[in-house]
Amino acid sequence: MDVNYMSIDTGTAADFRSGFVCIVGKPNTGKSTLMNHILGQKISITSPKPQTTRYAIKGIWNDEKLQVVFVDTPGYLKPRYEMQKRMIKIWSDAFKDVDLVIFMTDILSFPSDYDKEVLEILSTFRNQKIAVFNKVDLRPQCERDKYQDGLIGDFDSVHFVSARTGDGIQEMLDDLVSRIPYHEPYYDEDQLSDLPMRFFAREVIREGIFHILEQELPYASAVLIDKYTDTDDKAVIDAVIWLERQSQKIILIGSQGKTLGKIRAYAEQQLTTFVGKPVQVHLWVKINPNWRKKNTSLKELGFD
Ligand code: GDP
Ligand code: MG
Repeated sequence: MDVNYMSIDTGTAADFRSGFVCIVGKPNTGKSTLMNHILGQKISITSPKPQTTRYAIKGIWNDEKLQVVFVDTPGYLKPRYEMQKRMIKIWSDAFKDVDLVIFMTDILSFPSDYDKEVLEILSTFRNQKIAVFNKVDLRPQCERDKYQDGLIGDFDSVHFVSARTGDGIQEMLDDLVSRIPYHEPYYDEDQLSDLPMRFFAREVIREGIFHILEQELPYASAVLIDKYTDTDDKAVIDAVIWLERQSQKIILIGSQGKTLGKIRAYAEQQLTTFVGKPVQVHLWVKINPNWRKKNTSLKELGFD
């Protein structure tokens, strides 16, 4: 993992815990929701549509004598497109050096073929592992032993939670913390995330596209931040939305630019709340046929 190690003079690290935690599991199981619940801040992206998180995003949980760095991995996907191959690489790279892996699954669909596949791969990793069955709010009377029997490989512990209601989360966190090694903090405590703002802006615009447009179009889009200008009283973001076809461009822009306007308004509102000062977003729409299959395009878009 690429860690920007900051040297912080903390004296002895004997009573301070710090480490990396990676959350893996099928898209839509609630990984981002869990992380946001823990961090109490919107850092990663939640959406009812799968595959909205394409990157290993780190969020940092700072508490008294504790710092946990979360890696919210992209979903594990079969390599149908070149992009998905890269996602798998990001996914497996994220395991290197992590102190704990959380296997997260959805109680409604466990054990899916997908779960089994992920569990098989996980069983080859030597990290500490905990299994988390999420969405117990939707099936409160379930037989927990049966679920546990469906796991493959060794787990250090198993939890049943609801990332939505918070049920079972505290017990899970207590367990998680006890598995984090004694180590001085990896990051400056004021840092909420090591995510550059540009990257965050890109994710928020992508989120806007997902919220405002239906079906296939969001998956055919990519966002590139051209310019990010930050001054004392405002921030200005110039971004390009890439699409594969002219027909998609017409839909994305909408009649009299209304759809694009909504995406822009959404992004501005989200970013303004996050940054705490006015954010202006300027969007351009461009066509780049088959960007998903082109290596050079993928690189430019930051997928490597
Ligand atoms: P990810 O793809 O694993 O990051 O999943 P998300 O965090 O984006 O969640 C996918 C969907 O499941 C969203 O609509 C969430 O609101 C919903 N969700 C997440 N956790 C829970 C939960 O504990 N209970 C219920 N009922 N829904 C949840
Ligand atoms: Mg997610």
